[in-house]
Amino acid sequence: MNFKSIANIFFILLAAIACDESKQQTTIFPQGDKVTNDNFTGTVYLQMLMEADSINPTTVGNVTFEPGARTKWHLHPGGQILLVTEGVGYYQEKGQAKKILRKGDVIKCPANVPHWHGASADTAFVQVAITNRHLGPTEWLQEVTDEEYKK
Ligand code: MN
Repeated sequence: MNFKSIANIFFILLAAIACDESKQQTTIFPQGDKVTNDNFTGTVYLQMLMEADSINPTTVGNVTFEPGARTKWHLHPGGQILLVTEGVGYYQEKGQAKKILRKGDVIKCPANVPHWHGASADTAFVQVAITNRHLGPTEWLQEVTDEEYKK
């Protein structure tokens, strides 16, 4: 291996590291682990940021949805707030039209109202979910069908 080959490998590695760092800078919180429960359709990652306690009975989680991924229909007895930090996604309450969400949008999911949220078909979506637990855990309902998702 000559000097030129070694230099090329070095510069490729340097470019890969720079690329990786710029990638990390686009998301505020870590991606976390792949979700393995069946409350979602598609590939979803969760990083818990805060657990509930007696002073703040609220969980805070960073949720990353790959394109097409979404929650099942569900409801929160204590309601939920979503802060959109990246990408393009959807939010829909039962009986309402689907809303398109973009970075900087804030959504209040009213208590006990069935809804779903997730990524758009083409673009991943990252949200911080702030969920109030004092009135009970999230109730998971049926899947969001492809027909509902595309409507
Ligand atoms: Mn929700």
